[in-house]
Amino acid sequence: MEAIVVDIIFLGTGDAFSYGRRTHLSLLIKAPGFSMLVEAGPAIVQQLARIELPVAEIEHIFVSHPHGDHTLGFPMLVLNRYMATSPLRVYAGGSTLDTLETLCMASFPGVGFHRLENVQWQALSERDRDERELAPGIALRTTVVPHAPGVPTLAARWDFADGPSFAFATDTVSCAATAELARGCDLLIHDAAFSTVLQPGRDHSKYFHSTARQAGEVARRAGCLRLALVHLGQEIGEHPDTLAEEARANTSLEVIVPEDGDRLPIRSH
Ligand SMILES: [Zn+2]
Repeated sequence: MEAIVVDIIFLGTGDAFSYGRRTHLSLLIKAPGFSMLVEAGPAIVQQLARIELPVAEIEHIFVSHPHGDHTLGFPMLVLNRYMATSPLRVYAGGSTLDTLETLCMASFPGVGFHRLENVQWQALSERDRDERELAPGIALRTTVVPHAPGVPTLAARWDFADGPSFAFATDTVSCAATAELARGCDLLIHDAAFSTVLQPGRDHSKYFHSTARQAGEVARRAGCLRLALVHLGQEIGEHPDTLAEEARANTSLEVIVPEDGDRLPIRSH
């Protein structure tokens, strides 16, 4: 069988503030006959329009945690899919699903698009590792990673039979749980909200995000050969080469700092 190539389209690569050229973090995973959206920030409908993907074609979405830069576009996504006959399967931790539902009720009181049969809520564990089959031969694995207190946050990994595997961790510090989840992946997509090189002397740990250097450390610990840096702080996002060098730290790790709209094909190594 021919090996599957999976495309990652970086719809947005920025952090929560998103006032520069980078919009809120969102990814689209595209494989033959399968696509999955990752995160639904405020501009998700526009981000999808930019790549000319009809909203109705989104059938799977993963949301890492309930903060607004990852969820505020969800009601608009559901609204724009209300005529779609295929279901939207929403994968997130239970409390994040609660937030998504609350956002829908607050945005369209009395309408209840989110209660339509074409929305299916798939609660993932917020205490442990979890696993789901998204489609035949496509597995989703998740683990809990540290973020702000009281905000359960999940990192995720996708494994394609006869194809690549990749992991995604955002809004978290460098941690063993991510390295464990991402073990041997073809690509790790990791938060780099800060930079030790561009922002020396700042204590980044209190913001529950990572530096480019820490993202590189996680990728190496996980044995990943490639790393893509996302959730970039607006000021550091203007210096992709510096961030890549910081994450690489004189090793052979391949580091990508994608721009909004970039498409990255992933093959299994
Ligand atoms: Zn965020």
